[in-house]
Amino acid sequence: MFAASNPDLFVAQIAIGGLVLAGFWRLIVWVRNAPVRPDPWDAGFEQKMQDPDTPETCHHCSTPQPPGAWFCEHCGCAVGPYNNLMPYVQVFSEGEVFRSGTSGQFRKRPLILLGFFLISLGTFSFLAPVYWLSLLLNFARPEAARKSLPGPDIL
Ligand SMILES: [Zn+2]
Repeated sequence: MFAASNPDLFVAQIAIGGLVLAGFWRLIVWVRNAPVRPDPWDAGFEQKMQDPDTPETCHHCSTPQPPGAWFCEHCGCAVGPYNNLMPYVQVFSEGEVFRSGTSGQFRKRPLILLGFFLISLGTFSFLAPVYWLSLLLNFARPEAARKSLPGPDIL
């Protein structure tokens, strides 16, 4: 990188490197100065969450789960701690995410929508436009109509 024979290019490379470092430093300062959100839970709830005797519950329907459960028996939501690491079970977790994009609830954020597009492109390949159509129809659906549909509430 610093083997430029032209001294102007060498100075330009140093200036660009300085700008990149300054930008990185501003990013660090911006993250460190970000406002801290207050903890929504009280101390009793936090202690209960840390207690190993507290049964695990489904994050979608709050049904207590038996130890070693992979999916909620009530709503079918993935609740296992290693669902996304096991190749066979991972398929069902991914399916749950894709279903939430087309029939469930998710936050209407452009970054989340972009994530659905990219992940579905990698998974469905040339059939991804079919999924995108269903995703966009769900995205355009009013919030009240989406809440009435069954499905996990994720993202
Ligand atoms: Zn559940």
